[in-house]
Amino acid sequence: MSSAQDRASAIRNGDRRALARGITLVESTRPDHRDEALALLEAVMPHTGKAIRVGISGAPGVGKSTFIEALGTQLIDAGHQIAVLAVDPTSARAGGSILGDKTRMEALGRSANAFIRPSPSGGGLGGVARRSREALLLCEGAGFDVVIVETVGVGQAEIAVRDMVDMFVLLVAPAAGDDLQGIKRGIVEIADLLVVNKADGELAEIAMRTRADYQNALDLLRSTSPHWRAQVLAASALERSGIDEVWQAVQDHRATMETAGDLAKLRSQQALAWMWSEVTETLAARLRASPAIAARLPEIERAVAEGRESPTAAATELLSLFLAET
Ligand code: GDP
Repeated sequence: MSSAQDRASAIRNGDRRALARGITLVESTRPDHRDEALALLEAVMPHTGKAIRVGISGAPGVGKSTFIEALGTQLIDAGHQIAVLAVDPTSARAGGSILGDKTRMEALGRSANAFIRPSPSGGGLGGVARRSREALLLCEGAGFDVVIVETVGVGQAEIAVRDMVDMFVLLVAPAAGDDLQGIKRGIVEIADLLVVNKADGELAEIAMRTRADYQNALDLLRSTSPHWRAQVLAASALERSGIDEVWQAVQDHRATMETAGDLAKLRSQQALAWMWSEVTETLAARLRASPAIAARLPEIERAVAEGRESPTAAATELLSLFLAET
């Protein structure tokens, strides 16, 4: 048996250290590791695709880790196995990542039926997203039937996560009418489910109003899928109320998507988009690494930046230099 198959078997047999090492392998940027990672992914591939993949996003402090811990422990009690992956393109920044804090989700982290992986660092959003997609497949291969991909509410990260999950859940805080978070930034539009968290104590009443405001706003938007209208729920991760309703909505969404054939369609689209982003990123990386281009690039970039050369002409020149070499 090849070592990739040995690794894949260990992962499938529930060996958590093998899973962690497998994820470290797919996160590595070393070219020889890349070949091993691809072999591992190939070996695991037939055993992937069975999990419910849920993206959970929200601004820092909205209660994502408290919520995931509450949902996760409840799911484990119900017999599920849950993996939590973080996608945080800021994780290479000095001062550490927002989602990388080791003290987050402590109770969940102690469970034998949970696996928590902080965001890989470096490589920009493209790199982080690719490695998280591959980690997601490995988690599925390891038998996790629920994979949560958590991201912090920063710009394009939500879009990257939406493109790797079946359902995108946005957590928001109770807020007054005008500054409903995410509406202006368009994030609400990609959410299949909104959860107004912190619906407890003094915030309970305002949370209910916030819920109605979001529902009204969502009713004006296009649906995320032809057969599913985004819902808005209220919950308290702290008091662990409303969590069942959220899970019910996730299951309803799943059932709807499966019945209508939308899930298979969505996953095919995601797989194709992933393939093309791999092609684009790999080509761009090769192009930059080519000696002929490296020699010309600073001058070409300057010319484009200063408006002396059109971006299209510069791109054409770079591509012909590259193609002449290959
Ligand atoms: P994250 O940054 O989105 O992961 O947020 P955390 O889960 O770390 O929570 C941020 C703060 O909000 C912490 O002090 C939590 O105790 C608090 N918090 C989280 N969920 C709730 C909730 O449902 N109700 C209340 N009142 N506070 C909460």
